[in-house]
Amino acid sequence: MPRTMVTLRCSYCKNLFEIEECEFNRGGGKYCSQKCFSDYCRDPNTIKKRFWAFIKIGKKKDCWVWTGGFRTDGYGLFGYRIDGKTKLISAHKFSYIIYYGKIRDGLFVLHDCDNKACCNPHHLFLGTQQDNMDDKVLKGRQSCGEKHYKAILTVKKVQKILLLRRLGFHKRDIANMLNISISRVYAVLGRHAWKSVKI
Ligand SMILES: [Zn+2]
Ligand SMILES: [Zn+2]
Repeated sequence: MPRTMVTLRCSYCKNLFEIEECEFNRGGGKYCSQKCFSDYCRDPNTIKKRFWAFIKIGKKKDCWVWTGGFRTDGYGLFGYRIDGKTKLISAHKFSYIIYYGKIRDGLFVLHDCDNKACCNPHHLFLGTQQDNMDDKVLKGRQSCGEKHYKAILTVKKVQKILLLRRLGFHKRDIANMLNISISRVYAVLGRHAWKSVKI
């Protein structure tokens, strides 16, 4: 039986190549070679493309929710292969790295919006482990309000933050003025922490 060949274009190197029709019918023929396939898997651009395909991208103010797999603690989890190894990374962290670049040692990617599934780089900022803990406290994930021993803010301080913000001060200036970390300011102004406090 004569073998029928099909001519296709490799979706990675874009060169034309031939495969048997039966192979094509089985769903093969995306890549001209094993090499093109593994290069495709390693290509940082295709990794990024795959990554963003998992995210519902919306407006700058909206949360861009991760639709892939999740870590047990509620953060999105993204896996990719590079140099023959599978790497796993928190989705929000990967989003931060793609958008802003490398993360300095000892710093963590925190959410301004308190939505663990959110990968909107505009809602992410860097903080220390302590900031992360304070943030959790402030956002009421561990305990609430002033009662918790780690809560550094008081109702008075929170009111001051809200007031200074209303007066038009920048978040960084407010942090400096009150001698607190910027993540605490973000947590308060980000709608979730100390919600009950009004001015
Ligand atoms: Zn190819
Ligand atoms: Zn968000």
